[in-house]
Amino acid sequence: MASTPSALSILKSHFGYDRFRPLQEEIIDQVLGGGDALALMPTGGGKSLCYQLPAMCLPGLTLVISPLIALMKDQVDALNANGISARYVNSTMTASEIEQVQAEAGRGQVKILYAAPERLAIGSFRRFLNAIDLSLIAIDEAHCISEWGHEFRPDYRNLRQLRAEFPQVPAIALTATATGQVREDIIEQLGLRRGRVFLSSFNRENLSYSVEVKEGYWSKLLPLLKAHRGESAIIYCLSRRETEEMVEDLNDRGFSALPYHAGLESDVRRRNQEDFIRDRTPIIVATIAFGMGIDKPDIRLVVHHSLPKSLEGYYQETGRAGRDGLPSECVLFYSYADRARQEYFIDQLEDPGEQANARQKLSRMIEYAELPVCRRKTVLGYFGESWQVDNCGGCDVCLSTESEFDATELAQKILSAVIRTGERFGAMHVIKVLRGSREKRVLELGHDRLSVYGLVTNMSDSELREVVAHLRARGLLERKESEFAVLSVSEAGRRFLRDRESLALPALKNATASQPGRKSRPGNSPVEDFDRALFEELRLLRRTLADSQELPAYVVFGDTSLRQMAALMPQSMDSFAMIPGVGRAKLEEYGESFVAAISAYAKPKNLPDRSPELSEKRITREPGEARPALAEGGARRGTTYRQTREMLDRGMTISQIAEARNLASNTVIGHVERLAAQHEPLNLEHLLPDQVRLAQIKEAFDTCGYDFLKPAWEYLGSAFTYDELRLARIFLRQEASTD
Ligand code: ADP
Ligand code: MG
Ligand code: ZN
Repeated sequence: MASTPSALSILKSHFGYDRFRPLQEEIIDQVLGGGDALALMPTGGGKSLCYQLPAMCLPGLTLVISPLIALMKDQVDALNANGISARYVNSTMTASEIEQVQAEAGRGQVKILYAAPERLAIGSFRRFLNAIDLSLIAIDEAHCISEWGHEFRPDYRNLRQLRAEFPQVPAIALTATATGQVREDIIEQLGLRRGRVFLSSFNRENLSYSVEVKEGYWSKLLPLLKAHRGESAIIYCLSRRETEEMVEDLNDRGFSALPYHAGLESDVRRRNQEDFIRDRTPIIVATIAFGMGIDKPDIRLVVHHSLPKSLEGYYQETGRAGRDGLPSECVLFYSYADRARQEYFIDQLEDPGEQANARQKLSRMIEYAELPVCRRKTVLGYFGESWQVDNCGGCDVCLSTESEFDATELAQKILSAVIRTGERFGAMHVIKVLRGSREKRVLELGHDRLSVYGLVTNMSDSELREVVAHLRARGLLERKESEFAVLSVSEAGRRFLRDRESLALPALKNATASQPGRKSRPGNSPVEDFDRALFEELRLLRRTLADSQELPAYVVFGDTSLRQMAALMPQSMDSFAMIPGVGRAKLEEYGESFVAAISAYAKPKNLPDRSPELSEKRITREPGEARPALAEGGARRGTTYRQTREMLDRGMTISQIAEARNLASNTVIGHVERLAAQHEPLNLEHLLPDQVRLAQIKEAFDTCGYDFLKPAWEYLGSAFTYDELRLARIFLRQEASTD
């Protein structure tokens, strides 16, 4: 592959990664070879890189069509943080702002330009495109072009004309929607005939799935939320009213949550979404309207408070969890009432075709919720992917097979009851008969006179429903969808009765207390084993840096990078450069602050820098390939500390130094911490607060310990800033060591 060496070095230098994810390299090769491509990958699969990296290799500009204005800014911020010159134009900008961006692009100073599809209809924009050197057209969320998709956007039809106008420019279309119809439509509409289709597995292996009975859901939801406290979570509700109520209930229980639904003023909606993205509020309670506009990579929990109406919707909504590849949970609360409610909605549809379609989709969703079949297998099966693994190890069904019980007799009773009632009823009725219900209908039908009447007394409705579901999953019972769902005994079921076969079933979920917050997959992730306290400290630093630059925290570094830092504890710039996610630009911008924080944590505890071990395990680089992250930063580093130190000696304050050197004050404080950690004698007196405040700060650190800022900061209340505490801590440590 001719493009590989340079693509690989750009992957590290600009994105900070050492390897490609599945299909990324193949797609990039195809694009760099001048061909079209359609990339079908799940959410979080890493689609953006498939056009962002080629953009860095190609001579001209890459135009990215993306449907969401809100997302553009975040994506552009993230690229800029990686030292890539990206811009966007959209309708929130003034004409002169747009002209300015286009002029920059005209001078060849922009590699990646984001625009919404409606812009393509604007004459001046078309002229602009014709005047520049256009190298690649990337169409993100390409399913929006298809009326078959769930997010059809008429403006995407402008792309046909764009393609016709630039037939020689290669195009790459990307989507996480994999249904065949939509795929065909994208190829057709965009004229990707000479292209190739890249289809990756839609399994999200870092996501775990489970279904919980909705009855008494607080007892399950609260432990889940506690297990994920401080992490981002989405709770989906069906209606605005439920959304609002849920928010109130959560707030009452001490969880900070915000609502998001179509009934809110757009300002409020935007603000709530922003608060969530910026980690100011961990929980967002939303109707399905929420989510397409966010790329937040570190959502750890997605709860569905009610049954969704289709599996593709469910897959998409849960797909927002764990984009960064770290373990995350998806929990669905299911109740019979919710199912009836969805059925009621469908009954209200006027078009019979639509109604049938909706019913079909809902029934697949219900199967997912009711049948004790591996959830992953069910989801993937829906998308036509066959999942051959016996035990996925990451869903409630697979995890529950560990404890089984003998259900032979119970199964015999249920199957007999289905037969005795004439195979004309649904599960509810059969269960009533088995439990000896005195309900009018049971008596009217004379079912209280059957031999199976009242045979099961020690089990609840929901337990029995669960067993029925198991029997269906094992193929002993069948469910016919006529006007009402009717159970009948299959051939296999008859054989089971006749041959007196035995049956073991996994422990019933409804009987035992469930275990929320359980970890998705047994610790096979390389970053499971990290220092939690340091991680929290680094999160705080990330947050401070991000806030000072008005960026979402994940743009600074993702959780994956932070966990690696907390595991390997790099204490030099060279080691730090090896952390995944650290490219040249981020090394330069944030390296010193993080190395200082890690050193300040690790040195007093004598925790070693483990990054060199990692580098030995790494695949060796291409010969002749410099380590890009280090090549440039290296020489400058000594000087940057020296400059800070000289300014400090001259009595300049942190903010003066920051301004003079055009650095964030955090970075400057990072320098000071680092210099102090190397036992450089420093002149800090002029940076300190007055004696009274200093004494208060000392008391806080003495009480809460010196390792973390947060406890001390909380101890003091908000009259103190983190920066103040950080500086005082350097001084207090120095004092303590000279005493
Ligand atoms: P998608 O658009 O397919 O949902 P993104 O392009 O937003 O996914 O990527 C999801 C996450 O994966 C991002 O945080 C991105 O930085 C990360 N990522 C992409 N490619 C790689 C890679 N080769 N190695 C590590 N992380 C990657
Ligand atoms: Mg994407
Ligand atoms: Zn499973």
